[in-house]
Amino acid sequence: MSGTKCYDDEMPPCPGIDKVMEEQEEEVFKKSSPSASVGSEQDSASWEQVHIQERSYKDPLRELHPSTAVIYAGYHSNLSEQAIKPPIFKSSTFVFSSAEEGELFFKRAYGLEGNDGKAPGLVYSRLNNPNTEILEDKMVSLEQGSRYCNAFPSGMSAISTTIMALVPTNGHILYTNPVYGGTYFFLKDMCPERLGVTSEGIDTSNSEKLRTAIEQAHRLDVLYLESPANPTLSITDIALATSLAKAKNPNCLVMVDNTFMGPVFQSPFLFGVDVVLYSATKFIGGHSDLIAGLVLTKEKDLMAKINAYRTILGPVISPDTAWMLTRSVETVWLRMERQAQKAQKVASDLAAHPRVTKLLFPGSYVGESSNMARAVKTELWQRQCTGTGSMIAIVVRPNTRKAAFTVLNAMKIAHLAVSLGSTETLVEHPRSMTHSDMTVEDLDACGIEEGMLRISIGLESSKDISKDLLGALDMIQDDEN
Ligand SMILES: *Cc1c(COP(=O)(O)O)cnc(C)c1O
Repeated sequence: MSGTKCYDDEMPPCPGIDKVMEEQEEEVFKKSSPSASVGSEQDSASWEQVHIQERSYKDPLRELHPSTAVIYAGYHSNLSEQAIKPPIFKSSTFVFSSAEEGELFFKRAYGLEGNDGKAPGLVYSRLNNPNTEILEDKMVSLEQGSRYCNAFPSGMSAISTTIMALVPTNGHILYTNPVYGGTYFFLKDMCPERLGVTSEGIDTSNSEKLRTAIEQAHRLDVLYLESPANPTLSITDIALATSLAKAKNPNCLVMVDNTFMGPVFQSPFLFGVDVVLYSATKFIGGHSDLIAGLVLTKEKDLMAKINAYRTILGPVISPDTAWMLTRSVETVWLRMERQAQKAQKVASDLAAHPRVTKLLFPGSYVGESSNMARAVKTELWQRQCTGTGSMIAIVVRPNTRKAAFTVLNAMKIAHLAVSLGSTETLVEHPRSMTHSDMTVEDLDACGIEEGMLRISIGLESSKDISKDLLGALDMIQDDEN
C-alpha cells in the first residue's frame, strides 16, 4: 500500500498502512523498552533469568512486544490441569490451606500491621478472583509503562471509584471539554453534591487556554484528560498538560481516559501521567457484547487506594466478563490495527464526497480553519500517537440535523447505534444522542455541530462501508434545513 493516496495533496502524508502495520510495532517497542521509563521489577535481570529460569505467569514480559506479551502473561497452564486457556472460576470464596494463611491473606488484603506487602492470595471474590487477576496482569503487559491494574464492571465504575479514592474533600478538578457524558455528569453534579469536590471543564486541546486555566485555578488536585476527545477527536498535548499541572501542584494527579486510542496507539504513562482509564466496553472488549472498565497506574500506593475503594464499595467485574475480556485482549492489537487501516480508506473516500465539509480524523483535518491549525494538530498527533485509530467525525452540507438524520436513516450496512470500537461499524449523531445533555453553548463551543456524525469503523470490508456511507450521503438534498 505504499502508493496510498492522501485526502488532499497539500496535506502532509497520512501514515500509510505500512507504517501502522510494521514500523509502528517497532516504534512502540522502542519506547517501551525497560530502560525507557518504567520497567518491571526485574529490570536488572537478564532476559534468560526472567523468562526462562524464573519465568512467572505474573511477569508482564516487558522485553517482548506487547502484542506477544499479552498472549503469555497472566496465566500458566500448570495452574489449571494444563488447560491452555483459563477456566472460569465461578467461586465466591477460596479455601485457605491453614488458619495462619487465612490470617496472613487478610493482613495483606486490608494492609494491616504485620503484612509483608505481597499480593493477598485468593480470599473472596469481592476482593479478587483468578479471572480478574488474569485480565489485570494481561492489561499490565499491554499498557506501556503501567505496573498495576484493577478491573471494574463498567468504564463509569472505574472512573467514579478512582476519583472517589484519589481526590480529597474540597479538592478541585480541571477536565477536558468535551468529555464523556457520564464523566461530565459525575464531575458536574455528583462530586460537588456528595464529595465537596468542584470541577471546571476546559478546552485542554488549546494549550494557551489550558495554561491560563491551570494558573488561575484556586487549587488543582486532578487534571482529567480525554484525548482524542469524544466526539470531536480534538487532541490534548498530554506531556505539556502534565508538566503544567505538576508545576502548579507537584501532588496533582493526571488521569487520562485512553479509550479512543489505547493501548495500541497511545501510551499516556510514557508522557508522565499517573492514572490511565478505559471503558473496556469499547475497543478492548471490541465486540459490543460486554460492559467493563479498567484502571492502570505505575505507583503501587495509588492502586492500593483504588483497590480499597473497589473492595468496600463493591463494583466487581464478574468472572464471566473478565474471561471474555481475557479473550478480547489477545486480539486487541490486531483488531485496532486493522480497524485503523480500514478507517484510513473510508476517511479518504468520505473526504472526497461533496456533502462532507469537514472530516476530523487524527492526522488529517479536512475543513480545518487554516493550514497552520492543521499543521499544529498534525504535529502533535505524530508526536503523541502511533496510528490514526478508527474513529472519524464528519460534518455534512447543509450543516443541519435533518441532513445528518437522512444519512443515518439511509445506511443499509452500518448500524445506527451509540458505543464504539466494535467489529461492526457504528454511526451516531452526537448533538441529539451521546452529547445531548450538554448545554447549547457548550455544544457550540466544542464544535459539536448539527450536521456532525460520529463514525466508528469496524472490521467489515472498507469497500462495503464506503459504498454504504457514500450512498447514504448521496440522499441528502440541498433544502434539508
Ligand atoms: C463509553 C465511554 C465511557 C464509559 O464507559 P462504560 O463502559 O459505558 O461505563 C467512558 N469514557 C469514554 C471515552 C467512553 O467512550
